[in-house]
Amino acid sequence: MDVTNLEAAFERITVNDENDDHASYHKAKKLAASNSIKNVNASIAKVTITSSSTQPQNPGHRRTLTESALYSQPSTAKQWHLGMFEIGKPLGKGKFGRVYLAKERSSGFVCALKVLHKNEIQQGKVEKQVRREIEIQSHLAHPNILRLFGHFNDAKRIFLILEFAGKGELYKHLRREQRFPEPKAAQYIAQMAAALKYLHKKHVMHRDIKPENILVGIHGEIKISDFGWSVHAPNNRRNTMCGTLDYLPPEMLLGRGKDNFYSEKVDLWSLGVLTYEFLVGEAPFEDTQVMTQRKIVRGEYTVPNFVSPEARDLIKKLLVLDPEKRIALEDVERHPWIVKHCKGSERAYERASGGKFRSSSERES
Ligand code: ATP
Ligand code: MG
Repeated sequence: MDVTNLEAAFERITVNDENDDHASYHKAKKLAASNSIKNVNASIAKVTITSSSTQPQNPGHRRTLTESALYSQPSTAKQWHLGMFEIGKPLGKGKFGRVYLAKERSSGFVCALKVLHKNEIQQGKVEKQVRREIEIQSHLAHPNILRLFGHFNDAKRIFLILEFAGKGELYKHLRREQRFPEPKAAQYIAQMAAALKYLHKKHVMHRDIKPENILVGIHGEIKISDFGWSVHAPNNRRNTMCGTLDYLPPEMLLGRGKDNFYSEKVDLWSLGVLTYEFLVGEAPFEDTQVMTQRKIVRGEYTVPNFVSPEARDLIKKLLVLDPEKRIALEDVERHPWIVKHCKGSERAYERASGGKFRSSSERES
């Protein structure tokens, strides 16, 4: 099979970009449950997404991704349709989508097909999130970020052609293993840092980093997914609000009104929470919602004794209340805990991203 050709074909698919001006929306899961965080939801503000992966030169020339643009292909792009895919077993079900293993018939290329029903998307008021997911993810190509190769639709459904993550959800691995051994956790965090570095260079902040949004590839490498809450940040600072409470950084809880700005450094805080959860098996500020908020804004957490001093040091340098004082991603990659457990493995991975790579965590287990 000629994967390269197919990938090239997939890459020709583009979507128009958007300039959202619609009403605010809510993250259903944990946020909707609580009255105590109404103020958080209330401060969701306008988000602008541009098509360029770099800062827009001329914001006046932004195109608008209208409903029709989302639901119909631009005429220049390759027209995919369902008949081109052999549909395999269901891989999972989300709030809005069902995901199936699929094979592109002409090439044999294996992928995941995510099926979204237009009426459910409209009823759930998540049109904007879906557009964002498509717009942002289709412009990203990194070994630790789930690829979106293209999309198409029929009268009732939208189909996303996604990279297949052979080992499923990281969240399930973590629950099964309770917590990860330090080498494995360090290798995952190094991959996360590499992916976030790539995203931030493209002025994209993910804003919803947590184990539920990370998939695992066939070689044990992690794949960030779920870009529904991510945003292009042409001004570097946005004043929108979203995220799940456990992973929410203090600046997103504290900021109010116009001054409620934050930067891509929100992902560094979440990386700290993730490091902690990988090593301990639960998030550092887990509690009732009111208590979680209180602990986050005070930066109050304790690390159990079984966590090594090096890992503890990295967590401490990520979970810093002042966003500007958090350790930089470059320094995460150079941190003694990462270096100790990832000797050259990231470069080895990049060399072999064609497929032969096995992470050292996999070899150990
Ligand atoms: P939510 O609706 O809250 O975003 P979700 O992210 O789990 O939930 P989906 O993205 O629709 O929802 O995915 C549903 C499930 O399908 C996932 O939890 C995962 O188990 C599986 N899945 C999704 N995408 C892939 C993929 N590319 N490769 C392998 N499995 C996948
Ligand atoms: Mg999802």
